[in-house]
Amino acid sequence: MYQVAGWDDKNEDEDGDEEAREVCGVIATHGREDGQTVDVGGGLAELFDHDAMVEQLPDGRFDRDALAGHRNAMLWFGIVDPAWRGHGIGHRLFRARIEWAQAHGADMVFAMGWERPDERTSRPLFERYDFVPVQRFDEHYAGTRDACPDCGIWPDDDRECSCAATLWAREMPLDRLAGSGGVLER
Ligand SMILES: [Zn+2]
Repeated sequence: MYQVAGWDDKNEDEDGDEEAREVCGVIATHGREDGQTVDVGGGLAELFDHDAMVEQLPDGRFDRDALAGHRNAMLWFGIVDPAWRGHGIGHRLFRARIEWAQAHGADMVFAMGWERPDERTSRPLFERYDFVPVQRFDEHYAGTRDACPDCGIWPDDDRECSCAATLWAREMPLDRLAGSGGVLER
């Protein structure tokens, strides 16, 4: 009923060398009875080498240099249409991306988990895969997000998003993903 499809995007420059940017996008679609499909969720992941990952990590009470691995995956976002929550779609989008990361040799996976004011968080998803909460950042999105439905703010008012975010990390590989094939394997 719910398909999660993904694609690999490994750009090549003019000389045919691989660029550092390796991205994976996943889209969840629902096949309707009339044969149409609708997108109900999506997510992105990106691979970074050690130095690039250090640049990406937020400045917190930890040693970024020590935390970043040799080959790191960052889960940028995972969103599910509000009308489709509670169907396990977020989990499948999450799992598809960590399977992709593992299949591409990542030794660390990171994500910023949005902590909404109503306590609805992606925490259970991270805990299910034994991610470790490294640090909570209050008002993580202030200055970068001028609209947030969870804070009730909009671009035309002066307020900023006050949602917090938690940096989660997990060493790879995850044994339980081994041999699962993965939704992105063809
Ligand atoms: Zn907010």
